[in-house]
Amino acid sequence: MMNVAVIGTGYVGLVTGVVLSEIGHTVTCIDIDENKVKSLKSGKSPIYEPGLDDLMMRNIGKNRLSFTMSHKEAFKEAEIVFIAVGTPQSESGAPDLSYIKQAAKDIALNIIRDTIVVVKSTVPVGTNDLIKTIIEKHLIVNACVDIVSNPEFLREGFAIHDTFHADRIVIGAESEVIGDKIEQLYKPLKLPIIRTNRRSAEMIKYAANAFLAVKISYINEIANLCEKVGVSVLDVADGMGMDHRIGRAFLNPGLGYGGSCFPKDTEAIAYLGRENGNPMTIIESAIKVNFRQQQLFLQKVLDYFNDDVIGKAIGILGLAFKPNTDDLREAPSIYLIEELKKRGALVKAYDPVVKHLPCCVDSVNEVIETSEVILLVTEWNEFKEIVKEISNEMVVFDGRYMLKK
Ligand code: NAD
Repeated sequence: MMNVAVIGTGYVGLVTGVVLSEIGHTVTCIDIDENKVKSLKSGKSPIYEPGLDDLMMRNIGKNRLSFTMSHKEAFKEAEIVFIAVGTPQSESGAPDLSYIKQAAKDIALNIIRDTIVVVKSTVPVGTNDLIKTIIEKHLIVNACVDIVSNPEFLREGFAIHDTFHADRIVIGAESEVIGDKIEQLYKPLKLPIIRTNRRSAEMIKYAANAFLAVKISYINEIANLCEKVGVSVLDVADGMGMDHRIGRAFLNPGLGYGGSCFPKDTEAIAYLGRENGNPMTIIESAIKVNFRQQQLFLQKVLDYFNDDVIGKAIGILGLAFKPNTDDLREAPSIYLIEELKKRGALVKAYDPVVKHLPCCVDSVNEVIETSEVILLVTEWNEFKEIVKEISNEMVVFDGRYMLKK
């Protein structure tokens, strides 16, 4: 069993740390966010992720999992250090690598032995090389540092399940011995592993995410055409999806993709394409289609009110960018709320997990009883029956095809 440190306790870092401790490794997670670390130390996960709290408590209890704000303490015993910090989108579309660069410096200034740095964050081709350069430039001890690219594919809302049952683990290493070591780390999970070099591993992540985003935008364009020509897009998706070469997953039409990954990762690969004189035309189009879905949905609501929503009570069911998560990053709900409020609408919203927006109320009933129309924005399972019931009595704009019509 190995001694591991994980930098960043967000969706990826925390889940990685917890699962590695569950399979027997000793893991110290580090974060610069004091509130997160406080909460984690008390056994409470700062993010909503089914199954995470129980697993966390169990491994804290077994002394295999701990949390700290001190890089020195985290790296004291670690032979492997994971980087799982954010890589948000910058103005240009390229990922902002400032957290990555800082994490690299933190490693250089605080490790005390030879270390394998495993990069879980989604980063553009060449970033692992950059991390190596930064670490070597700032190292203050005589240690050998190897870098391995190990991109993450978990889905928020299923993060624990996905980590135990991943389709594959990608290990991008320049040295066979170092790649073997990381393969050994994951061995208890008994998952398929694909070995490659660092740059290919970095690209696999972007190419995979962009492909899924394209699939979503594709079905959304088909959905819009189906609506015009009187065809059920859900039947079309089922018919397409039964072809094993296509598959049914990611053929769910609606408000499009959101969240912390697809929007920024599609922008990042599009940027990389532009920078290298190789425009990513399909991906650029998928990005446009995705935004248009939200605009078209908004326009349907505005049309219903003859373009005048001043003082209109509009209820929103679902805020998170998808069910089973509390993540609001790039959620269509945010765009819709902003646009409706800007036009003078009175917006009330309910989400089973997201509770902190000013428009949030305590129950679905409160939204239904006080609204003129309902916008179904996130397809939480618990909305299914309610939406079916109320759709007989009031107007529901079904952004997720929950009513199947
Ligand atoms: P996040 O924003 O939820 O968490 C990042 C954490 O890193 C934060 O808690 C932050 O305080 C901490 N941090 C930043 N700099 C630090 C430093 N120097 N030292 C210690 N802690 C530091 O991010 P996330 O959603 O977990 O994503 C992390 C990476 O994984 C991103 O590159 C993302 O694209 C990728 N990814 C995310 C998902 C997902 O579903 N969220 C899936 C696959 C890949």
